[in-house]
Order: sequence, then C-alpha cells, then structure tokens
Amino acid sequence: MATNRTFTMLKPDSLEKGNTGSILEKINAAGFKIVAMKQTQMTVRDAQTFYAVHNERPFFNDLVEFMTRGPIVAAILEKENAVEDFRTLIGATNPEEAAEGTIRKLFADSMSENAVHGSDSDENAAIEGAFHFSGREVF
Ligand code: ATP
Ligand code: MG
Repeated sequence: MATNRTFTMLKPDSLEKGNTGSILEKINAAGFKIVAMKQTQMTVRDAQTFYAVHNERPFFNDLVEFMTRGPIVAAILEKENAVEDFRTLIGATNPEEAAEGTIRKLFADSMSENAVHGSDSDENAAIEGAFHFSGREVF
C-alpha cells in the first residue's frame, strides 16, 4: 500500500449515536479521499488481533468488548501525509485533551469510547487496511 494512505474505523459509539454521516463529512472536508469503505462488525477474535499491541494493558478486555458490541465503519483514506494529518484531524486519544474542532472533541465521550481509530504509522496503516479489505475492495 502506498504511504499516502491511512486506515480508520468509526467505532461502535459513533454508529450508535448516528454520527456516521457527520464524521465522514469532516473527513471529506479535510481533503481525504475514501478509497475503500464498509460497515461491518468485528468478532472478539478480530478485535483481539487488531489491538494485539495492547493485550497486556489493563483496559484490553474493555476495549475488545467495546469494539465488538456493534457495527463499525472501516475505511482506507488517501491524502498526502495521510497518517499524520488524520491523527491531527481526530485529536488526542482522550477527548478531554483533544483540540477544538477535532473529531474526538466533537463526537467522543471518553477515553475508552472515543469515536474513531486512526493508524499511527504507514506500516500499521498498510497492515490494518489489509486486515479489513481485500485488494478488489480498494479503488
Ligand atoms: P486508536 O488506536 O483507536 O486510534 P489511539 O492510537 O489514540 O487510538 P491507543 O493508545 O492506540 O490510542 O489506544 C487504543 C484504544 O484503546 C484507544 O483509542 C482507546 O479506545 C483505548 N484506550 C487507550 N488507553 C486507554 C485507557 N487508559 N483507558 C481506557 N481505554 C484506553
Ligand atoms: Mg492506536
């Protein structure tokens, strides 16, 4: 995957609150092109694998439970400097610390239910995109 791509998930809290359209609008307005997108629901095994880097952390089981409790929207986004710019757009992990106007500031309730995921490196963007999409789903 090219390094001008990142991967995102709108987390279950966003779909429960009906924020899918509003969040996608922010993503579009910030200049990201959606090259793959689907609504899906992760299994427990999916979430354990996706967030395996956190499996020793005290919040891991809560994170898996949250991420599997309802559908998500997964997407691959394209833009110059995609990974860094998307992390800026979503804001800090804790919405209380997120900058004004960021997606987490606008749409997230807490550190654990924080509306969106954004890849933290080009390498992880490629891994995470491939976790959710086959080549023929990316345009
Ligand atoms: P994400 O990977 O979802 O984009 P992030 O990169 O900002 O978020 P990470 O450190 O990768 O943050 O943590 C992954 C997710 O685990 C967070 O988005 C959050 O939902 C949850 N999480 C992280 N730290 C905590 C914590 N201290 N308490 C509860 N949940 C946490
Ligand atoms: Mg992360």
